[in-house]
Amino acid sequence: MTLSTWSGACHCGAVRFAFQAPSLRAFACNCSLCHQRGAIWVGCADAHFQLLGGNDALSTYAFGTHTATHYFCRRCGAAPFSHPRLAPAHWVVNLRCVDGVDLATLEIHPFDGQHWEDAARAWLQAQAMASAVR
Ligand SMILES: [Zn+2]
Repeated sequence: MTLSTWSGACHCGAVRFAFQAPSLRAFACNCSLCHQRGAIWVGCADAHFQLLGGNDALSTYAFGTHTATHYFCRRCGAAPFSHPRLAPAHWVVNLRCVDGVDLATLEIHPFDGQHWEDAARAWLQAQAMASAVR
């Protein structure tokens, strides 16, 4: 599996990061937070994520079950990545903060975060089926 590298930053540039993924499988969550932020996410393994700068500018937000950790820049407010509730040891990166991504060219898959338990079950089943086929 070939991995490509993408990089990005928050709006003010204090927080910089890079990550590797086989492709940009984008999804949009409709939970109360993602709805307000308009985030478009792509997942990546912890080993494939690098914070390149701005650790001191980052703050975190948690709500609901407090399983997820949502990072944002204290200076500009942009929210470039989170540890998602679905896989808190991994990352989701907000494609709106990634350099050179044309969201209009990506298929954006819905994740029904408003009904998180059902959506998570369906997502995990789809993952299991996909890895069985692979
Ligand atoms: Zn910033």
